[in-house]
Amino acid sequence: MCNLPPKFHSVCRLCLSFCGDNCSDVKLPIFDRDKDKSRLSEMIMAYLSIMVSPEDMLPQVVCGSCANKLDEFHTFRELSHKSERLLEQFLHYANSLSGPIEI
Ligand SMILES: [Zn+2]
Repeated sequence: MCNLPPKFHSVCRLCLSFCGDNCSDVKLPIFDRDKDKSRLSEMIMAYLSIMVSPEDMLPQVVCGSCANKLDEFHTFRELSHKSERLLEQFLHYANSLSGPIEI
């Protein structure tokens, strides 16, 4: 085994933040205890292109700040996809009223 510092598995996987025992910033587990997937792990892989696995020997926690950023990113993604759908629907509707747009 390699010589890892004792706190290695307590740092945030995404920003390396670490706070001591009296810190109020809770670290959130990336994986649910009895599942090999979770909302956090899926967002990390989808939005950050970082592969995480319960067996990868790297820290399995993220800080609250990083979890919030992932949530914001997720909300932004949902909003932009919804906007895209609405724009396409509007274009389709406008075309159905007046025929294709002339270029
Ligand atoms: Zn973090």
